[in-house]
Amino acid sequence: MVTNVLEVNPERLWDSLEKSAAIGRFRDVGLRRLALSAEDKQMRDLFVDWAQAAGCKVEIDRLGNIFARRAGSDPSLPPVAIGSHLDTQICGGRYDGILGVLCGLEVVRTLNDRGLLTKRGIEVICWTNEEGARFSPPMMGSMAFAKVLSLESVLATTDDAGITVEQALDEIGYAGPAPLGQRVFDAYLELHIEQAPVLDREGCDIGIVVGGYKTQALRLTINGDTGHAGGTPMAMRRNALVGAGYVIAAVNDIGLAYATDEGRTTTTRIESFPNLPGTYAEQVKLTIDFRHIDAARFQAMRTDIDAAIAAAAKKANVEIEVAEDRRGTRPALSRDAQPSRPRRLCRGDDGADGDDLHALLRGYQPQRG
Ligand SMILES: [Zn+2]
Repeated sequence: MVTNVLEVNPERLWDSLEKSAAIGRFRDVGLRRLALSAEDKQMRDLFVDWAQAAGCKVEIDRLGNIFARRAGSDPSLPPVAIGSHLDTQICGGRYDGILGVLCGLEVVRTLNDRGLLTKRGIEVICWTNEEGARFSPPMMGSMAFAKVLSLESVLATTDDAGITVEQALDEIGYAGPAPLGQRVFDAYLELHIEQAPVLDREGCDIGIVVGGYKTQALRLTINGDTGHAGGTPMAMRRNALVGAGYVIAAVNDIGLAYATDEGRTTTTRIESFPNLPGTYAEQVKLTIDFRHIDAARFQAMRTDIDAAIAAAAKKANVEIEVAEDRRGTRPALSRDAQPSRPRRLCRGDDGADGDDLHALLRGYQPQRG
């Protein structure tokens, strides 16, 4: 029997996850640790302390991406990177990308326990704002690293309160001196909790990401008239919220129609004006998100969504403007994988995370050294 002498210390990893889960706790079991918030700073500080205690050299770039490096025996070789994110959604989980960062730290700690020196260095990475819950788009840190987004555009991005990424980085002291995106890796590994219940239901321990979804966000502005909820005759109303309701239901039906071959749709955000009791809505802003693994089927979904929007506008007697959100567009990622252990092949890119890999692969070619 072959013994895996490099097994990590599961109790220590679990303890680190539990310590993380105490920072920004939300609704008893979950986390609300928005990017560049006070809670995010607290968790970053803890991670940096842990990494330094494990002998890593910590560097932070202009966007607050953290790189904790355990040196290898040959400094001329690019390191192996292991990473993910420590921020969460507003109703986020306690493992998610956090596991992807802390498992990297656990690898370093385990190598330290055994007194092992690897040929290549190991770099544990925490990317800034993978979730996009506070600042949009998600995966800002990794996309700017890979030059998919410009540094200037990311720094100028605001949250709903009008605070820029630049201000938020200064506020928590994580605008670091390391240059953005000038690191080379031999390989990049990201362990992540599945963002769905499929593996759990199938009793499968591990899934391997072999591709992603082609994704598009559409921003809709629905224009009608506002009036009194009692006085205005029904047939005279141009209620923007009713138009939004027709769109929301139709988009969901389209998602269900394409679900058998992995289509996905949802409406992610709604803003209504004047949004007051006793009135009906003059203007509604809505964001649609749709995805498919196949480019032709993706295009067919778009055609169906456009038709549904036109039908909703006609039925509610409103005007609907559609703008494509370029920042929300991502091509499908496809890679061959030949894993040797029992696994389920999965699609990544349920909104975040697997896209680290995507952004990195688009941005540069790994160097073999
Ligand atoms: Zn994640």
